[in-house]
Amino acid sequence: MNEQAIQGLKPERVWHYFREISAIPRGSKNEKAVLEYIKKTAAAMGLKAKQDKVGNVVVNKPAGPGKEGSPNVVLQVHVDMVCEKNRDVQHDFLKEGIKFHREGNYIKADGTTLGSDDGIGVASLLALLEDKTLVHGPIEGLFTIDEETGLTGANHIEPGFITGKIMMNLDSEEEGVLYIGCAGGLDTTMTIPVKRKAVTGKVAVMNVMIRGLKGGHSGVDIHLGRANAIKLLTRTLMAIDASTKGKMRLVSLEGGSKHNAIPREAEAVIAVPAIVESKATKAAAECAAIFKNAFGTTDPDVKVVVEKVKKAKPALDDKSKAAVLGALDALPHGVIRMSSDIPDLVETSTNVAVLKTAAAGVTIVTSQRSSIESEKNMIASQVASVGRIAGAKIKPSDGYPGWQPNMSSAVLGKGKEVYRNLYGKEPSVKAIHAGLECGIINDRVGGGVDTISFGPTIIGPHSPDERVAIDSVEKFYKYLTEIVKSVA
Ligand SMILES: [Zn+2]
Repeated sequence: MNEQAIQGLKPERVWHYFREISAIPRGSKNEKAVLEYIKKTAAAMGLKAKQDKVGNVVVNKPAGPGKEGSPNVVLQVHVDMVCEKNRDVQHDFLKEGIKFHREGNYIKADGTTLGSDDGIGVASLLALLEDKTLVHGPIEGLFTIDEETGLTGANHIEPGFITGKIMMNLDSEEEGVLYIGCAGGLDTTMTIPVKRKAVTGKVAVMNVMIRGLKGGHSGVDIHLGRANAIKLLTRTLMAIDASTKGKMRLVSLEGGSKHNAIPREAEAVIAVPAIVESKATKAAAECAAIFKNAFGTTDPDVKVVVEKVKKAKPALDDKSKAAVLGALDALPHGVIRMSSDIPDLVETSTNVAVLKTAAAGVTIVTSQRSSIESEKNMIASQVASVGRIAGAKIKPSDGYPGWQPNMSSAVLGKGKEVYRNLYGKEPSVKAIHAGLECGIINDRVGGGVDTISFGPTIIGPHSPDERVAIDSVEKFYKYLTEIVKSVA
């Protein structure tokens, strides 16, 4: 029972609000009810709230006595949550609230996501807005929608919707860490037009498959150096082509499935003259050994599988084959540069993500990320140039801006000082190589918003394993109230 789970937990009002919003279904794009609840709650507190066209809500809390001249501070949270459940659990995320329980130092849901990401942020912000004993400057409590499936709320904030030039995002997942940056990103899609010719003569047709790779998220896992199935397929095809003295015919190529995932699998249908079939299979086997040697640590199960196929459809002509293999080979993949300011932060990267074949062309989807806008554009331009040399049509997506770490940020300095005073140690300062709302909001309101992000410790967010550490919620909320007082 939710009531029982939070009994005696502190801060009492944070857990009270967490229980309240947990009772309201609030999966991404189903946020109407929780937004109504926030507006109603703000009204009951005597606070003014406004809502924009997409649904984002700002609640204004005026300055405390003597703090009227203090700068506006934006406290930002997202109201939606990821809806995932274990296979054996019956739960209707559109109709039912989240049921949770206590497990030692954790609150955990009963087989579903908990929504502590970002529900603890929402609950903490409501508790802070309610608390009349806290003396601080004017607060703009910003509740955004649909962070998890499109960053829709952040992407549609109108200039002027918030006015503060200091922002604290309450949506990170490690107590004791201050986040000061994230990556921006965009996709670059290229389609290489191809001409086809019938496959004639005595040929062996085969499906060459790359299997057994780990893959991962193209942002947060890119520094691990895992193999990319599309790149390994390309190397294998080039080796087979060389072993058959350029006689390999390429029928189709497929690989990957999501723009933000490192591809785990890729495959190609090829035809080689029957007389050199053994050379081709030997080349593939050699590639398997080469990959095992190079990626044995990151991808110990890497495999090159060759299967005979019955009939060949018309295959790419030699010029088209050269263009496609050339582009795939030349496309960069992986970390382009590490940050010089933040240890272990990937600053710029690119992912060769998806490969598809249609009758008239081969399409390659790639995605680029960087915490520095100019470097994001640089790597996207480099990728597009590879495509253009191969005669491809290039389609870049709109993308989203990053949040460039600013080591001399005033709010960061304040944030470190407050943490030190409160807990007697330095907080860690980090940035992540994936998207957050901060960069987008900053960009939408015209830039220059000094921002940090922090939160309680949440383990396994976005999965039914999600749980929030009870003691970290108390530390996080205490820190939040202290930093809000101290910037006034
Ligand atoms: Zn979140």
